[in-house]
Order: sequence, then C-alpha cells, then structure tokens
Amino acid sequence: MLLRHTTAEIKEREALTVNPAKTCQPIGAMYAALGIHNCLPHSHGSQGCCSYHRSTLTRHYKEPVMASTSSFTEGASVFGGQANLLEAINNIFNIYNPDIIAVHTTCLSEVIGDDIPQIISKAIEDGKVPAGKYVIHCNTPSFVGSHVTGFANMVKGMVKYFAEATGEKKDQVNIIPGWVEPADMREIKRIVKEMNVKSVLFPDTSEVLDAPLTGKHQFYPKGGVTIDELRSTGDSIGTIALGQFASAPAAEALDSKCKVNYEVLDLPIGLLATDRFIDSLRKMAGVAVPESINVERGRLIDVISDMQQYFYGKRVALFGDPDQLIALSEFLVTLNMRPVYVVTGSQGKRFEERMAEILKDIPEAKFKQSSDVFMLHQWIKNEPVDLLIGNTYGKYIARDEDIPFIRYGFPILDRIGHSYFPSVGYSGALLLVEKILNALLDRKDRDSAEESFELVL
Ligand code: SF4
Repeated sequence: MLLRHTTAEIKEREALTVNPAKTCQPIGAMYAALGIHNCLPHSHGSQGCCSYHRSTLTRHYKEPVMASTSSFTEGASVFGGQANLLEAINNIFNIYNPDIIAVHTTCLSEVIGDDIPQIISKAIEDGKVPAGKYVIHCNTPSFVGSHVTGFANMVKGMVKYFAEATGEKKDQVNIIPGWVEPADMREIKRIVKEMNVKSVLFPDTSEVLDAPLTGKHQFYPKGGVTIDELRSTGDSIGTIALGQFASAPAAEALDSKCKVNYEVLDLPIGLLATDRFIDSLRKMAGVAVPESINVERGRLIDVISDMQQYFYGKRVALFGDPDQLIALSEFLVTLNMRPVYVVTGSQGKRFEERMAEILKDIPEAKFKQSSDVFMLHQWIKNEPVDLLIGNTYGKYIARDEDIPFIRYGFPILDRIGHSYFPSVGYSGALLLVEKILNALLDRKDRDSAEESFELVL
C-alpha cells in the first residue's frame, strides 16, 4: 500500500536511487566475521551505524548478534578514531575475551581516513593484544558497493591475515560459500562430506546464527571456522569460490599469497549450478560422486518433471544480491519459467554479462545492476508478472500489484525459515521448487472459478 505512488511512466534516472535493492557494506563484513569461531566483529565508527547493522542481522537471523563499536563522537569525527579504537581493543580483550576482533570501517572513519593497519600495529606495540589473540580488519566504505562487497572484503581480510603456505600440501579443499544462510553452509558441508572430501569452509555461520536454545547464554556460539583452519587454507589443494561477487576476491587473494588454485562458480542454487559444484569438487579432490548424491539429484528431477506444467511460461520478477540472482534465474529457466525482470542494487558488469547468457532465449527479459526496487516496480506496472521473488521489502509491491510473493535473500524481517532450510544443493532446490509451486498453486486455488476448483492436480 505504501508504494501506490509508483508510476508506470519511467523517467531516466542516474543520480537518484529510490528503494535500494541493497544495504550497506559493514553489514556484510559483520556477517562474515560472525563466521569465525570466537570472533567479535567491531564497527569502527559511530554507535548508530553499529546499532543499525546489528539490528538488521538480528531481525533477519532472529538471533542475538554481538558486535562492538568505537563509539565515535564529535572529537573522533574531527581528530580521527585512533584513540577510540585503541581503547576499544583494550576493553574488548579484557571484558569480552574473544580470540579475534574483526574490525570493519564505516562511512565516517573512511572519510576521516583512519589507517586501521597502523592502529592495529600500535595496539600490538602497546601490549593491548594478548598473546594468541588477533585483530584483523577490512575497509568497508559504504558510499561504494553494497553489503555483498563488505562481505567479500572481510573474507579477503581473513585470507590476508591468516592464510599460510608451509610448503606441505594438505588433502583438503577450501570452500568459500559466499553470502548464504547458515543452513546453506551446513548443507554445503554435508554435501562435501558425502563426497568424501575434506574441506575448510570459510566463513561458516552455521551453529552461530542458528544455534539451538539450550537455556544457557553463549556469548560465542560453538560454530565458526577456527584460526588454525584459516591458517591451513594456504596448504589446501584448491579453492572453490561460490559466487563471483562475494567469494572470488578472497580466492584470488589466496592464490596470489599462497599459490592455491581456485575455481569461481555460481552459487549451487538449482540443478545446473549444483551439478557444476559437484563436478568441480569431484575433479579437484579426485573422488567419485557417490550414489547417494545421484539419488538426491534424481529426486529433484522427478519432481520437476512431474510438475513442469505449472511452471511453464510463468513470468517472474526478482531482486536482491547478484550471486543469488544469477543462480536463481538459471534455475527458473531450467524450470521453463521466464525470469523477465531481474534487478540488483550491487554494482558489477559481470552480473549483466552472466544474466545475458542465462536469459538469451527470453527476448523480453530486462536486467540491471546498480538499480533499485522502484525501477522493478515500474517494469511490473507496465507488464505484470506471475511471481515476485525478493527480500521482505517486496511485500509492498506484491500487495499493491496482487502478485504471489516468495521471500528470498537478505533481509527477511517478517518470516522465519530462511536461516534453517537450505536452498543450495539438490535438496535445497527441492525446497525451492516446493515454495514456488505452493505460491503458484495457492494463487490458482484462490482465483479458480467454482467449476474448475480442483481437489487433485
Ligand atoms: S551507510 Fe555509512 S553511515 Fe550509514 S549505516 Fe552504513 S556505514 Fe553507517
């Protein structure tokens, strides 16, 4: 209802974003840092930024998100935040005792130009970092990029600070899962284990942001990649980076630092992307695909072929993060659906190149990087769709235009489930198929005339 002002008439805009399809860099850095065991993310800026980032993650994951802040006030804004960060590092190790503090910057500290590596060195020189403890950092100026860039920067930071090549290769594969849900990280680990491959998954937010209720508060939940595991990534036989936007920078950094070969794949969402993931893993680790994985795949194909008449030709609009949109669009095409509008707020020519490949047989398809949800709404107003897929903010469009809506992506503030049920792998694809089918068939049931209101499909 709040978007009734959206007009169908499209005017060229360059310097104005309305209803962004992204959020700010530090949120991604904070999420990635939570995927390190015993790590406290630290926001180097004002309290307001940190509160916003924590609350957005808390609302999405429905878990308490711990993070500290340099608490800039007027003084730090004028003279720089060195004194604040030094005091913060001292307090955090004394009071909260993490193994690692993962510092990310904010717009304010970036504009001031605080030199974080220099401040960390001074903290070490001043004895503020106890033995066996670490402070790492990444820069996350939010006036460029998006939350996906922030995530990628923090994962790259993990490589820069920890990866080591000892000269002795380890029989393990690095998997950089990209920005996916804790349940997806768990599912990726399950698939890799099923393939009999040893791996280091980083970051890993499973058992951190989907930890069980035990009756005891755990400031640092048991999940997360450990420092030793991060160190060992430099000795792995290879790296599989899932998602060009969220994971490739860390894989490239690891290759240039420790000479670890890497392959960048789409997120394993849907049939074909999962096939490519399994195949790369098979080749890199030199293993055979077990029958159990073939059975999972067969089950997915069975459901797709049983239900294909309900998918065929349905027009879909999507918005969100580039890595997810690329894989999801390919899956929709596999289902014989038509992803006609695809919008991301993140920047990157690679997004448009990949979408052009995936949607080459859908001439009416429009896709745009650095765009916004307002533009998507205008496209929908001009020519409607049968289904909308996106984060919680899509509910306004869905209601205004009366379109079936599937919540997918970040953030999802008004539902649960996204952090507990995977969408990666063959089993995740099956859950996605069920969601899509339910949305379409619920609408069919709602709109059917009495004489065509069927009990059995
Ligand atoms: S956009 Fe910049 S100022 Fe705003 S919350 Fe993000 S980091 Fe803070």
